[in-house]
Amino acid sequence: MISTQQQFHTNQDNNFDAIVIGAGFSGLYMLYRLREAGLRARAYEASADVGGVWYTNRYPGARCDSESIIYNYTFSEELLQEWTWTSRFPEQAEILSYLNFVADKFDLRRDIQFNTRITEAHFDEMNNRWMLQTDDGTSLSAKYFISGVGMHSTTNIPNFKGLETFEGDWYHTGQWPHEKVDFNGKRVGVIGTGSSGIQAIPVIAKEAEHLTVFQRTPVYSTPARNHPYDPEFIRETKANYSEIIREIRKSRGGSILRDYNDRSAMEDTPEVRLREYEKMYEKGGLGLQATYKDLLVNEAANETVSEFIRSKISARVKDPEVAEKLMPKYYYAAKRPALDTNYYETYNRENVTLVDVKSAPIESITPKGLRTTESEYELDVLVFATGYDSMTGSLFKIDIRGKGGMSLKEKWADGAKMRTYLGMAVAGFPNFFLIANAESPAALSNMPVVIQQQVEWIDDCIAYFREHGVDTIEAKAEAEEDWSKHCKEVADKTLYSKGDSWYTGANIEGKPRGFLIYVGGVAAYRKKCDEVAAKAYVGFSLSSARETVS
Ligand code: NAP
Repeated sequence: MISTQQQFHTNQDNNFDAIVIGAGFSGLYMLYRLREAGLRARAYEASADVGGVWYTNRYPGARCDSESIIYNYTFSEELLQEWTWTSRFPEQAEILSYLNFVADKFDLRRDIQFNTRITEAHFDEMNNRWMLQTDDGTSLSAKYFISGVGMHSTTNIPNFKGLETFEGDWYHTGQWPHEKVDFNGKRVGVIGTGSSGIQAIPVIAKEAEHLTVFQRTPVYSTPARNHPYDPEFIRETKANYSEIIREIRKSRGGSILRDYNDRSAMEDTPEVRLREYEKMYEKGGLGLQATYKDLLVNEAANETVSEFIRSKISARVKDPEVAEKLMPKYYYAAKRPALDTNYYETYNRENVTLVDVKSAPIESITPKGLRTTESEYELDVLVFATGYDSMTGSLFKIDIRGKGGMSLKEKWADGAKMRTYLGMAVAGFPNFFLIANAESPAALSNMPVVIQQQVEWIDDCIAYFREHGVDTIEAKAEAEEDWSKHCKEVADKTLYSKGDSWYTGANIEGKPRGFLIYVGGVAAYRKKCDEVAAKAYVGFSLSSARETVS
């Protein structure tokens, strides 16, 4: 294990106050804040340019399920006024343009090194510095080490036998080529029907000669109802951003609160309930899950909305047998629900076949296509919409070691015992911060809202301790224990933790299970983080070069 400065042979230019990993929403803003605070900071990004997942997720149909006008930074009024979104749900290319606009406006690229992965980060206890290595063999050091690796950046390609023998082309939605993939005249197979598959399938179906969808678990999807923004709406939005910001901060999911109600689904008659669900369904977006306050806590309430969506699937799909296969049977929203544009209608097309690979699992990929335990399918192109090793996947690719050479991967080996303090700090890993990762509300919210709040909190925390001459800040084990316990208690009162998906790590073979999302919501999370800051960062132990203060 490398743990001393001598072994790293760092040169002066590579010694930073702070190193940030990633140049997506998290990394860009963290870099900006650190630089504004006068720190010598640098971001390292594996891709060739800014954007994070929006740089790599170029699959056909890729859009965000958060509404454009709130899927952005809100820290700069000037930025809010200068940027104009064109439609309700932003498409990948537009989000990428936005992040490029931000990088240009704040001149961020000069402090980002692209095409570079951080491969190891070890805490040197003698010098209280993080010693890092890149994949090109460069040694770096920094006082603060901040991860903005992204929640969904390590793709999951299931270990199917025979993939290397496939004679056609294959792609993963999360690592899509920059040039257009031509599906014309091709027999295409898509494996996976999560948010990515649901967006890609209708677009690919229009082009391909034939599309076969291999579905293991159906997902609850409702219409996005995307539309271009009207200039008057944009004008009003820009005039009211301060109110919008207040609203999203007060909300649970970091989105706009309007029209959500505070009643139980069980208080209304079936007729009234139906009317309420219809209203939300017609509006589009993810608001349906907030039609009633107890849809994610009460099984009977959840069944009313689940059944409502199943009835919509039945109405949208002509063949009743196909419709039946598409109907989820688990709790609505216990697995991330999707938004679609003509997803279910796609199964009414002559050139689309749905194959249930739950009842007849995929056995292997063959030179000519794919074999399930029941049949063989000839394919020219295979698309993996099989998701990500979410949250910990990208962190575990880096050999991160804290005090005493403790490895983060080993510390977190048991998903049920994974701990963080506020989703941002880890005991045994001083001066190390996480953005948009485990035990924060990020996964269940409009991400930029949580990202911005966490970045500002981390920046304030670093500034506070620099002012007070503190050398290292480290989460106390008991604070971590309490936060994790709280996360679990809140989650256990809901249905969120009762599904099998990336929410629990169940999507990755052999991954330790554990529900790692703080489901208390954006507003409660902000309040808790602010309280910790107001109490001089209670829960952290601090050390100056000479002493340790608990
Ligand atoms: P996902 O939700 O994890 O879906 C992966 C799909 O692949 C599932 O249907 C899964 O089936 C299937 N699959 C995985 N391994 C398989 C195997 N061995 N055999 C057969 N099927 C297999 O991944 P995703 O769709 O990429 O979405 C991940 C997350 O990214 C989303 O939940 C969302 O948070 C974010 N995202 C958001 C948007 C948006 O905002 N519009 C778009 C894309 C992604 P099982 O369910 O049975 O495991």
